[in-house]
Amino acid sequence: MIDIAVTGAAGRMGRTLVEACTREEGMRLVAAVERPGGASIGADAGELAGVGKLGVAIRAGLNGLDFDVLIDFTQPESTLAVLEHCRKHKKRMIIGTTGIDDAGRQRIADAARDMAIVHAPNMSVGVNLCFRLLETAARILGDEVDVEIIEAHHRYKADAPSGTALKMGEVVAQALGRDLKEWGVYGRRGISGERARKVIGFSSIRAGDIVGDHTVLFAGGGERVEITHRAESRATFAHGALRAARWLMGRKTGLYDMQDVLGLR
Ligand code: NAD
Repeated sequence: MIDIAVTGAAGRMGRTLVEACTREEGMRLVAAVERPGGASIGADAGELAGVGKLGVAIRAGLNGLDFDVLIDFTQPESTLAVLEHCRKHKKRMIIGTTGIDDAGRQRIADAARDMAIVHAPNMSVGVNLCFRLLETAARILGDEVDVEIIEAHHRYKADAPSGTALKMGEVVAQALGRDLKEWGVYGRRGISGERARKVIGFSSIRAGDIVGDHTVLFAGGGERVEITHRAESRATFAHGALRAARWLMGRKTGLYDMQDVLGLR
């Protein structure tokens, strides 16, 4: 049995993960944590997720809790705090949080010398397949096309562009030998001027309850290729995170992503 802890257990992804744990063979939820002072502290994680009482009360911190793998879909500061706890106690960690800056990513890479981590901006199989398709499309279409990435998410999403859109940009930039820091353009307004061919553009829509749509547009003279992924439910991310947790049990240290978990490398 793999014992799972979930941080951010009252959040949108947290509740979906708690629910997914109850369906997954060979796994069980043993710990659920939320922000100290939050209204959900003390509540039963299963009841909050709508799957009935699980006997796992939501706690305000990780101290004293034992588990095999911690799954964290929260926000950058809390992810990095949880990372230190897991490093100290040599626990495995799945990180789904997006919007983590370069310094934070470096801290994750450093911690992975002492613990095993899967960090991916998108845990869905379909999106990870899209990363591969984008690599192929970028290589074949090359510098002949303009690349634009359009993403849409629900009104509550904190960061923009999405971590997935940025990763898509990185995949395309790498295949084309470009540096995204130099060529990324994030939204346009006013007299934005003629587009440079090497630009990789990003546009973000925030509306309603959209779970997550991504389109990468390769537009050339006379034709257009669009690669689109639409997430219909958060269950797809939760399922991927649990798959990653199972895979990570075979590792003691190292930093991995979903391409490793899915054998797509
Ligand atoms: P949310 O706001 O609904 O949930 C986040 C939860 O974290 C909240 O309940 C909040 O109270 C809790 N939290 C904050 N600080 C905490 C702390 N110190 N300790 C414990 N809990 C704490 O957000 P969400 O929609 O569930 O998304 C969470 C993150 O996951 C975002 O960064 C989002 O972009 C990312 N995400 C990633 C994937 C993926 O596949 N990798 C998929 C969906 C969402």
